[in-house]
Amino acid sequence: MITDVAIIGAGATGLFTALDLSLRGIKVTVIDRGGLISGTSGRMHGLLHSGARYVSNDMTSAIQCIEENTILSRIAPHAIFDTKGLFVAVKGDDESFIEEFVKGLEEAGIPYSEVKNVLELEPNLSKDLIYAVQVPDKVVDPFRLFAGVAYEAKRNGAKFLLYTQVKKISGSKIITEKGEVESKLIINAAGPWAPSISAMHSNESKVIELMPTIGVMLVYDKRLNNMVLNRLRPPSDGDILVPYYNTSILGTTAQVVEDPDNAEISDEDIQYLIEEGSAMIPKLSELKPKRFYYSVRPLLKGTDARSATRDFEIYDEGDMLTIVGGKLTTSRLMAEKLSDVASEKIANNSKSRTATTPIPDVLSIYALKNTIGDEIYGYGYAFSRLEEVLQYD
Ligand SMILES: Cc1cc2nc3c(=O)[nH]c(=O)nc-3n(C[C@H](O)[C@H](O)[C@H](O)COP(=O)(O)OP(=O)(O)OC[C@H]3O[C@@H](n4cnc5c(N)ncnc54)[C@H](O)[C@@H]3O)c2cc1C
Repeated sequence: MITDVAIIGAGATGLFTALDLSLRGIKVTVIDRGGLISGTSGRMHGLLHSGARYVSNDMTSAIQCIEENTILSRIAPHAIFDTKGLFVAVKGDDESFIEEFVKGLEEAGIPYSEVKNVLELEPNLSKDLIYAVQVPDKVVDPFRLFAGVAYEAKRNGAKFLLYTQVKKISGSKIITEKGEVESKLIINAAGPWAPSISAMHSNESKVIELMPTIGVMLVYDKRLNNMVLNRLRPPSDGDILVPYYNTSILGTTAQVVEDPDNAEISDEDIQYLIEEGSAMIPKLSELKPKRFYYSVRPLLKGTDARSATRDFEIYDEGDMLTIVGGKLTTSRLMAEKLSDVASEKIANNSKSRTATTPIPDVLSIYALKNTIGDEIYGYGYAFSRLEEVLQYD
């Protein structure tokens, strides 16, 4: 197979890049060893950040988040739920941080309002709370969002090779377990696996400054909150409870790991999350989570996992571009910047259109056609059916 640009990784970054480039009229092929968003993107926390979480230590990322929060809400309203978010401080939290936080919201341009009657809005919050502020945090369903992004990319000419692992790269040839793809330019959007793709490409192997960082999330099988609840303190573990459909998801931890395929979770991690979460929502100490899941962040290297920036970086390795860092919230922006560099390299000087291109609610359309009884079965079926359709020529 011959293509202009081969994208390795069908996560948030790779899929938005496929859409961006195909809207510019560039021929792209997306390759993933799993299905759509089968890496970190399908196992995230579900929070479309307002940026508030980063105002104290990562202003660039905070500003990117609020801008992208607005854009994604406009282009993909079906996949985003405007729950709003609260940041709450409880007795014992550092009160001087509150002022710093509010200043940061102003500097980043994040709209906020102090909330007085918090317990009426969120009865499960601790009675020990001392301050609460509301911000435009939202909830995102990554499956509904990226089903639509992939579908729209396909409609504009993108090709998909899913369940196809890249084994080797030799010059402009990508050797997969199912055959070869010849490409003018390779994009390495393999998230936490990006260094291993980079190492296949070049013998000298450019050093990709990536810090794979595992995070655990606990799922409670009832909805405990209406808004996203965040602890008002510098980012730490067990700080966020996301209302996700009829569940609530508590997260998360942040531990640097060597190999994203061999990360382990201990009982202590889970206990620690529950203890930290209970300071904000005491009920969590009485409830048993229904299940847990985890994934690995492709963070840019920093001194430690919590203070590392959520900004991103593009590495130019000649006929391969590698992108690392960022958030799912900022994946459209990452793809836009990456596609600007990619299209310049292959002498196409068109501009990005993803900020104004509506994303179709394709999963609902497929699910409605295929629903057998209940809706959840419909969505699961619709997602795998879409993966098949994407791979037809
Ligand atoms: C615990 C946790 C919670 C998070 N919560 C949030 C949140 O609430 N909000 C938010 O905005 N962000 C969140 N993030 C961050 C966000 O999920 C990630 O930044 C984003 O999903 C990364 O997307 P990606 O496309 O770069 O990587 P991925 O989604 O990991 O995609 C990389 C793809 O490359 C493929 N691949 C790897 N190796 C090969 C190979 N050899 N051949 C072919 N394919 C290969 C993988 O299968 C994978 O699909 C969270 C991250 C973690 C870890």
